[in-house]
Amino acid sequence: MEHLIKGFETFRRDVFPQQRELFERLASGQNPHTMFITCADSRVMPEMIFSAQPGELFVYRNVGNIVPPYAQHVSGVVAAVEYAVKVLKVRHVVICGHSDCGAMKALLDPSKLDGMPSVADWLKHADVARHVVAENTAGLDAEAHLRCLTEENVVGQLEHLRTLPVVAAAMASGSLSIHGWIYDIGEAGIRVFDGSSGRFVDMRTDGHPVPQATPMARFAQNAASAA
Ligand SMILES: [Zn+2]
Repeated sequence: MEHLIKGFETFRRDVFPQQRELFERLASGQNPHTMFITCADSRVMPEMIFSAQPGELFVYRNVGNIVPPYAQHVSGVVAAVEYAVKVLKVRHVVICGHSDCGAMKALLDPSKLDGMPSVADWLKHADVARHVVAENTAGLDAEAHLRCLTEENVVGQLEHLRTLPVVAAAMASGSLSIHGWIYDIGEAGIRVFDGSSGRFVDMRTDGHPVPQATPMARFAQNAASAA
């Protein structure tokens, strides 16, 4: 605890004064551009990875970066997505998995879930990925297997995300795009799901457009002409 309290002291003394104006502005409201859904893993720090300021990212974290499908399970993450899209009007939702994910390892070896019935239940929302990988990746070594499962889980959660009515409506009007990424902890790399090829590709930082996980907005033109 002492470590945390000392850390807060350092923040108040060294960081806050330099950004006082920003914090004063944020004291009365937020306008984040992106909702970022990732794993609760302590090694994944979205604001640090993206050099983001307070107020930029609406972050939601849970075990396995999971979004249960609409109406199947009332959950904090689904409520947070509704709020982010409907009220905060974020323009992007990113679902970000990561390397060496304990939740994904537990999916591969359910004995790791002994004594944790709630985690086991929660990870049923990732069952699609487990089945897809089990049926399609015979012969892969353990590392490749884990990587495949981590990717497939992100793809599966993107599909769940699309079942939320607020998300489907905002995507159809072109006001929201959704993205599936994997963060590599040891390499500082990000792989991005490219919906047009169905593959994960390295994120480029040279201004090249980031591949999207989604089809074209169907009603974008209507929204534009009505505006
Ligand atoms: Zn994880």
